[in-house]
Amino acid sequence: MADYQAPLRDMRFLLNEVFDAPTLWQSLPALAEVVDAETAEAILEEAGKITANSIAPLNRSGDEEGCHWQAGEVTTPAGYKEAYRLYAEGGWVGVGGDPAFGGMGMPKVISAQVEEMMNSASLAFGLYPMLTSGACLSIHAHASEPLKQKYLPNMYAGVWSGSMCLTEPHAGTDLGIIRTRAEPQADGTYKVSGTKIFITGGEHDLTENIIHLVLAKLPDAPAGSRGISLFLVPKVLVEDDGALGERNALSCGSIEHKMGIQASATCVMNFDGATGWMVGEPNKGLAAMFTMMNYERLGVGIQGLSTGERSYQSAIEYARERIQSRAPTGPVAQDKVADPIIVHPDVRRMLLTMKALNEGGRAFSSYVALQLDIAKFSDDAEARQRAEAQVALLTPVAKAFLTDMGLESTVHGQQVFGGHGFIREWGQEQLVRDCRITQIYEGTNGIQALDLVGRKVVGSGGTLYQAFADEIRAFIADAGSELAEFVDPLQAALDNLDELTAWVIDRARANPNEIGAASVEYLHVFGYTAYAYMWARMATAAFGKQAQDDFYQSKLGTARFYFARVLPRVQSLSASVRAGSESLYLLDAARF
Ligand SMILES: Cc1cc2nc3c(=O)[nH]c(=O)nc-3n(C[C@H](O)[C@H](O)[C@H](O)COP(=O)(O)OP(=O)(O)OC[C@H]3O[C@@H](n4cnc5c(N)ncnc54)[C@H](O)[C@@H]3O)c2cc1C
Repeated sequence: MADYQAPLRDMRFLLNEVFDAPTLWQSLPALAEVVDAETAEAILEEAGKITANSIAPLNRSGDEEGCHWQAGEVTTPAGYKEAYRLYAEGGWVGVGGDPAFGGMGMPKVISAQVEEMMNSASLAFGLYPMLTSGACLSIHAHASEPLKQKYLPNMYAGVWSGSMCLTEPHAGTDLGIIRTRAEPQADGTYKVSGTKIFITGGEHDLTENIIHLVLAKLPDAPAGSRGISLFLVPKVLVEDDGALGERNALSCGSIEHKMGIQASATCVMNFDGATGWMVGEPNKGLAAMFTMMNYERLGVGIQGLSTGERSYQSAIEYARERIQSRAPTGPVAQDKVADPIIVHPDVRRMLLTMKALNEGGRAFSSYVALQLDIAKFSDDAEARQRAEAQVALLTPVAKAFLTDMGLESTVHGQQVFGGHGFIREWGQEQLVRDCRITQIYEGTNGIQALDLVGRKVVGSGGTLYQAFADEIRAFIADAGSELAEFVDPLQAALDNLDELTAWVIDRARANPNEIGAASVEYLHVFGYTAYAYMWARMATAAFGKQAQDDFYQSKLGTARFYFARVLPRVQSLSASVRAGSESLYLLDAARF
């Protein structure tokens, strides 16, 4: 596997030339003091170093060794503890955290780039800090002041980590049917009892305490998802002076043996009357969880991109070196017995597809991160509301499309290696295995598609969609005629998505099955169209600078490839959407 190199040039291009993030930061009072172009540059460069030098080298050994469970204790692979300490001491766990509690206070568009680097270096490693920052977000937004004071500083500092305990053996997608109970106590605490499964980082040896956020039901809770509350349940109880006290009544029953992310501990957690504190209001636990979900879901989308990027870096190096057969148009490497495989059209197709999907995904995730920043930091209520609406619409697309495209990229990256991609030595097969979970957890991609079509598009009567489409239309109207080669296909894709959206909204009125039948393919049409918008914006920023730097030439060439060879996928996907639900219900369950 090629040594990982953080794609800093592309990140700088997006921040400074495509989205002009520094101007936005200056306009947001909470950020103007904290970040500018130079700070961002320094942070990204440092993140690039630590992820490449200290984390990436553990990716393969972590996969081979995995985690070990013995008598309730989980040991992470060799080297993890030291790397985690280094990462925590650098302040990286709290990169997006509130400075009032010791966080770095960086906007999401910066922490998203750091997350990309960390997950490219090692997805399994990246999950430990990611779950911690997710838990911090919920605590920060919903917990009482004393709970924040007690827990956030050590969590941002990486001294304690976090976990999110939602899933139970019988309740994954449908959290309304969870059975974990929380009994109120006279002193205001709760006794939490139940079993949670698949808990990432539920137990490990990286930190001295683990702060679990647990969904549970109060004794008198209403049935379903309206009766769920959220509790903070530490592994080790914390005294009033902040010192660690007794072990809480919870334990890790076992860890899962799984397809990928072997170095990430996926735990069965047993809560046996463990002491917990309520976060937020009774029966509003799911809403409290949703605060962090937009951030987490974007983070999982970025994990897909990260594995695709890592796979591409190895594939391009291999394709330049591996020699097999001659180019169809005659020998290129005259001094060798065969040409490097990068001469072959099919190998170029795979590499360019990876490059176009990775760079499009990086642009799209940065765009969504900027919307999250406006929604969080703007003091203009209207701008905040607009950004919130964009985030609501685009989050399921970012989670599902980036991970679906991430898997496609890792499979292309494996294929470029031929048989060597299937064996372990080169590391390409690990990326395929690791990436696969990103389509499943944090709400399966099928559920993301339902959220997009059912709640966001149909549920808003198309208004959320219209706002995004209007922004693209305004961009097209402003583009000069020299950009027609990018803007015309974008316009055609948008017209198609407009029609498809109207079609889905109309059909959903008559038959509720139409939403689920259309959802996954509709999300893909949406995703390819959103990437086309990103590629048109990137092409606009690169246009006219080709002579300055190869980077811009590469950008424009990749944009042309995207419009010519990838965007046309929307045609067949749209035809599938328009076929409707009928053919899905021709067989009864017994005839499948
Ligand atoms: C490695 C790993 C780490 C994880 N980490 C965590 C964690 O840290 N914390 C945590 O709480 N959970 C975690 N999970 C759990 C994960 O979020 C769930 O597995 C996921 O949400 C799906 O739930 P499920 O497995 O019960 O599948 P189910 O809900 O049983 O779904 C099975 C299938 O049915 C589909 N389906 C279900 N309902 C519908 C519907 N209404 N419409 C259409 N299709 C539907 C799903 O899309 C899926 O394809 C983790 C899982 C794994 C494997």
